[in-house]
Amino acid sequence: MAEIYDRVALIGLGLIASSMFWAIKQGGLAREVTGYARSPETRETAREIGLCDRVYDTALEAVEGADLVVMCVPVGVMGEVAAEIAPTLKPGATLTDVGSVKADVIAQVLPHVPQGVHFIPAHPLAGTEHSGPRSGFAALFENRWCLLVPVEGTDPAATAKLRHLWEAMGANVEEMDAEHHDLVLAVTSHAPHLIAYTMVGVADDLRRVTDSEVIKYSAAGFRDFTRIAASDPTMWRDVFLTNKDATLEILGRFTEELFALQRAIRQGDGDHLHAYFTRTRAIRRGIIEAGQDTDAPDFGRGGPKT
Ligand code: NAP
Repeated sequence: MAEIYDRVALIGLGLIASSMFWAIKQGGLAREVTGYARSPETRETAREIGLCDRVYDTALEAVEGADLVVMCVPVGVMGEVAAEIAPTLKPGATLTDVGSVKADVIAQVLPHVPQGVHFIPAHPLAGTEHSGPRSGFAALFENRWCLLVPVEGTDPAATAKLRHLWEAMGANVEEMDAEHHDLVLAVTSHAPHLIAYTMVGVADDLRRVTDSEVIKYSAAGFRDFTRIAASDPTMWRDVFLTNKDATLEILGRFTEELFALQRAIRQGDGDHLHAYFTRTRAIRRGIIEAGQDTDAPDFGRGGPKT
């Protein structure tokens, strides 16, 4: 495939950045990819495994001359990173991010974007419970959605070019406004993660069932919660602190539904439970039909998770 950008800079070298790097290389989508991470250990690992054509010791150097700069750091520090790199952003360059929350990131970053630089927030809906520079793989974005959240007045040509990159990495791309993005993600990702964290915490606290029993009999459903609850603590702390309103709205609704189910169980209302579970089963079928998961009985544990 032809190069889409000349020079791409990845700031933060974890799961998403390393997956982008391998996908860009595999597809020949940029002439050069530079990288930077704040810790010397991560930079060292990146150099060792050939992650990025060149790894710099400062973000300013990594960004210099890049026509696409991708911020791949936790959402709580996007603004800080934007402020740090702003002085060397090339006029005409595109600045983007991969953060899981959009309204708060836009508010943090926009004030630092220099005149003539196109800021186009993005969010690939793809990930695993692993993190760090060794965790990425080229196929991560294949057949996953990437949501672009262009701010008002964004150059359509710059947006089209970024869309082209994500499509070339295998993603399906759609545009969405920031508030709607944050509500959709609160339902599909953020609240489910909080519920998984809670369920694993409850099992940990329950003294009448030993830890070894929880682990031994985990295939009964708990195991899937533990995979989600193993996700990076920094990333998820930032997601909840920055997508506060939408997450609280969904958790409020969740609590109401939970109370309704609790009441149905107490009152022996089997019809309510059956009707509820029939409705939720149909949602699972819809996800499989849309190609967003497999129907494999092992919940797809044989391969990379998303
Ligand atoms: P990751 O594997 O944990 O990597 C995070 C990177 O950010 C590391 O290079 C880390 O540097 C750097 N970093 C951490 N704290 C920092 C700070 N205070 N200042 C500067 N750099 C810092 O994370 P990831 O999964 O790639 O996530 C990156 C972004 O993608 C996040 O915004 C997340 O919301 C979004 N995202 C994640 C997923 C997912 O499932 N993982 C999916 C979609 C989008 P060091 O290595 O030097 O510590």
